[in-house]
Amino acid sequence: MLPWAIHMDQKWNGGTNNGISRLASCANTYATQNFQPVWYQGPPITNGLEATNLAMDQFTQLIRDNGFRLASPAKIDYQIPSPVTSSTIRGETSFSQTRVPLSFVINPTQLDRIDISPITLSGSMFHAWLHRSGFQDPKTTSYFISEAPMCVMRGYQAKVSAASDASFYQFFD
Ligand SMILES: [Zn+2]
Repeated sequence: MLPWAIHMDQKWNGGTNNGISRLASCANTYATQNFQPVWYQGPPITNGLEATNLAMDQFTQLIRDNGFRLASPAKIDYQIPSPVTSSTIRGETSFSQTRVPLSFVINPTQLDRIDISPITLSGSMFHAWLHRSGFQDPKTTSYFISEAPMCVMRGYQAKVSAASDASFYQFFD
């Protein structure tokens, strides 16, 4: 998960741990809704910066629990959605903070398409991981679960009118 690693390094900021990653900065610009995972009970999360930091810490939790086999084994299933959609990778929203298996359902039809770039698939995987982290859809403009992955898909650049949000989030599930 390269975006996770880059975020952690930029936030660590040489040891101060107060840096703002490019991912967090981008998500803070565009995300305005659904900042909190469903299991979250702390102080209200009110912006994309806080949400990104929380999500990346939760990724750390997921990686740790799966790496140390504290979660039940992750399953990667392959299934064509019925009815057919442009979804690439689906992750169910987790209602638990710990011991969450990193399970996914991959749409083999979409994976076979050579016109879907690796960065697009990275964003889709990011969206699926956010579900496993407890974040919820809708997968549309302004929602954290869409805006943060779209930041990755744009290389953390600002939005341009030529590329619609829908052209990115059509691949989410
Ligand atoms: Zn979704």
